[in-house]
Amino acid sequence: VLELCSELERAGHRAWVVGGCIRDVLRGETVSDWDLATSAEPREVMRVFRRTVPTGIQHGTVTVLWKDGAYEVTTLRGEGAYSDGRRPDEVRFVRSIEDDLARRDFTVNAIAYDPLSGEVVDPYGGLVDIDGRILRAVGEAERRFSEDGLRILRAARFVATLEFELEPVTEAAIEGALPTFRKVSAERVQQEWMKAFKARTPSRAFEVMRRTGMLEVTMPELLEQVGCEQNHHHAYDVWKHTMECLDASPVAKPSIRLAALLHDVGKPRTRARSEKTGEYTFYHHEQLGADMADRWLKAYRFGNDVRDEVVALVRHHLVCYSAEWTDAAVRRFVKRVEPSRVPALLSLARADVRAKGKPVDPELALLDELEARVAKVAGENAALSTTDLAIDGGDVMRHLGIAPSRRIGVLLEALLERVLENPQENVAERLLLLLEQLHREIPETPASPRVRKPQGETE
Ligand code: ATP
Ligand code: MG
Repeated sequence: VLELCSELERAGHRAWVVGGCIRDVLRGETVSDWDLATSAEPREVMRVFRRTVPTGIQHGTVTVLWKDGAYEVTTLRGEGAYSDGRRPDEVRFVRSIEDDLARRDFTVNAIAYDPLSGEVVDPYGGLVDIDGRILRAVGEAERRFSEDGLRILRAARFVATLEFELEPVTEAAIEGALPTFRKVSAERVQQEWMKAFKARTPSRAFEVMRRTGMLEVTMPELLEQVGCEQNHHHAYDVWKHTMECLDASPVAKPSIRLAALLHDVGKPRTRARSEKTGEYTFYHHEQLGADMADRWLKAYRFGNDVRDEVVALVRHHLVCYSAEWTDAAVRRFVKRVEPSRVPALLSLARADVRAKGKPVDPELALLDELEARVAKVAGENAALSTTDLAIDGGDVMRHLGIAPSRRIGVLLEALLERVLENPQENVAERLLLLLEQLHREIPETPASPRVRKPQGETE
């Protein structure tokens, strides 16, 4: 970074390190993303450095490739009017670093440092706010928030990732910006959520979203959880339980965090009172929740892989393991969840248990036991999916003399059921015999029945 600044200054320009990286250096964090601001115009930056990429030239940003790194170098700029609350209508270059800092969102993000002279430019008291761990808008909060609807969500995210408190005037300005916030694209909302998940306690961001109305805009279903009391298994209402589960889920796994956030989204709408016990039940909330999660993840443009994984985790999050399970039951569990998803599911299940606000050591011990038993059946090389069977679809078609159709899959699934029960049957000759029998027994109906497993009664 020093070398880049020197090059720019040798060519007669000025250069500062600005924004989030200065904030993070001062917080004692390691910084990987360095942003530079310069008085040089983009063309001039491209003349100073040999290897550049005009990444955002219309916004004044050039990426400079220097040694093994890439650095964003942005010409000092102010911003014109925002007529749509998403993007400034025009970008104007400005002469002073102070004018550049004025367009930035929070005081702690509006500090510049010239590493060659050692000069710190801090017109909005960002240094004091970093010390006080306060997130405060630059200038008039209401106006700044209505210029760009994303800023209020950034505020919520920073409250979690920086573990700062929202300054009260800044927080009070959020409500007025909600109409602008509604116009922010699904993709940009998604990106901020993913960044919030990297916080040690992401619930801090979601609590801000709940109290300020942002959650009402993006995920009103979750608000139904607030005040939704549960049963003797739980100390908390569904919302507090969800927040605890989110924080207890592993920080390095965004899809598990998403699943933690969504795992009980179906609870409020399935709550009923048991006549027998007088307690609340939530039958099939995991099925409804999986459908609700699926719709929401689609609307917010999550990729298919993430969506499939999160929906599967929500659908299977009730792991009702008990020591009486046979090995066949363990194999059926692994098959139902899909072998590759078992580790994530166990992480989610542990977070779910820890978030009950009750003594849970016995339940955690059971999950440890299940994990060990899953490892044991995996070590026995037992078939856990149809691709593990000793025969494949081609063998089925040749042996029965039938054409490709959905029936091949149905028959393979039926064979797998038998092999899950008894792994010794996974031998080609044995399976071909079984196949003839199943072909006679299973009626030729095209639709494969969807089985609803009644599990996790009161959870
Ligand atoms: P992080 O990199 O952790 O997301 P950051 O503060 O570096 O945090 P960036 O999105 O990298 O955020 O942006 C760099 C800087 O640009 C910010 O520190 C801030 O000064 C400014 N900035 C970014 N987005 C906005 C915005 N929507 N409105 C105003 N200023 C912004
Ligand atoms: Mg950054």
